[in-house]
Amino acid sequence: MEQGEKIEFRDGALVVPDFPIIPFIKGDGIGPDIWKATRLVVERAVSLLWGERRKIVWKEVHAGQRAFELTGQWLPPETVEAFETFRVGIKGPLTTPVGGGIRSLNVALRQALDLYACVRPVRYFRGVPSPVRYPERVDMVVFRENTEDVYAGMELKEGSPEARSLISFLQKEFGWEIPRDSGLGIKPISRSRTVRLVKAAIDYALSRGRRSITLVHKGNIQKFTEGAFVRWGYEVAKEYYPEETVSWAECDGWPPSGKILVKDTIADIFFQQALTRPEEFDIIATMNLNGDYISDALAAQVGGVGMAPGANINYSRGVAIFEATHGTAPKYAGMDKVNPTSLILSGAMMLEHMGWNEAAQLIEKALEETFAQRIVTYDLARLMDGATEVRCSEFAQKVCANMEGVF
Ligand code: NAP
Repeated sequence: MEQGEKIEFRDGALVVPDFPIIPFIKGDGIGPDIWKATRLVVERAVSLLWGERRKIVWKEVHAGQRAFELTGQWLPPETVEAFETFRVGIKGPLTTPVGGGIRSLNVALRQALDLYACVRPVRYFRGVPSPVRYPERVDMVVFRENTEDVYAGMELKEGSPEARSLISFLQKEFGWEIPRDSGLGIKPISRSRTVRLVKAAIDYALSRGRRSITLVHKGNIQKFTEGAFVRWGYEVAKEYYPEETVSWAECDGWPPSGKILVKDTIADIFFQQALTRPEEFDIIATMNLNGDYISDALAAQVGGVGMAPGANINYSRGVAIFEATHGTAPKYAGMDKVNPTSLILSGAMMLEHMGWNEAAQLIEKALEETFAQRIVTYDLARLMDGATEVRCSEFAQKVCANMEGVF
């Protein structure tokens, strides 16, 4: 490995050397194809801007199918350690092991590193086919809580002694009648984890000059979990950001200029309004399961999962993993066919997170140019007239050529 240095975290901020060591996982299925494309684009952006003065020193680590073949473990401890040590990393999609103790490697990685905020920006690139009439009005960033909710995996199988015991307990102590042949799941939503998620969303909004935060919930029904999330969300704004934010109730939806509007919406109507009036939404803060559905639904408006980047971040410890939001699409593995934009945009997010903003902007501009030229992979080409369909690797080369043009 070339000489590089660790990214440090001091006084709440990353300290990024000119030659940072960045761990990466290629991923399974289509992972190696989209990783190769992403690495090419990220390296070209950095070299165009800074020549020999800055360079990423990549460090390969393993998880998923590849790790299992090499080590007999799906998520080797060294991989988790590498992300913890080097702080900023990137990964392709991973095969979910069938059977065995791990339900999802992504969930395991997020939990092991306490990557509590899943951040998913959703924006439209002109020229990309969309099922909605005004996709250019979609510009949202979803902050999804990553560590609790029914997603935390606390479930008991129907008929198991544990499920029976809990059903009896609930009947005896609370008088709750639950059919004995039920499976059970626990939905923890805590004040402390809500506070850190909503703070991350507001900090993000402030640092990027965004307009509003919408807390999306089913608090009308699930009062002490999702309802509490909303209440705590408003409290965070009032307690920690009294000068910078204003709630809907305080201004009737018309915030004084320079203040971030904090509002909330019930999840079911959110899905409708995000389609019909997307311009009314900016930063979305929500819980784990809602966030999962919402991110994919929003991605559909801007061209699908192949277009949607993501990151899992612990802002308190400065640890972050950037990732494509889709899976391994095994039927396309090794075919050099799929759309690498999700991982390329995740790479751009990573550069921005490191403070290398110019490189992130250069990549976004080149992607804009490439889509405007109607140069796309199969997933978009099949929905477009007059498109030039290219392979995954060719798409990356076109993006690089357009970066040179912009530069
Ligand atoms: P998937 O891999 O996301 O693929 C579903 C479909 O989405 C593909 O068949 C393809 O649609 C489209 N697609 C996905 N990525 C694309 C890309 N880059 N470009 C263009 N189209 C793309 O979902 P899955 O088949 O349900 O899951 C496969 C495996 O991935 C499973 O083991 C699952 O557990 C895992 N998974 C991993 C992650 C992760 O690591 N973050 C996330 C989700 C799932 P068309 O067939 O219509 O072309």
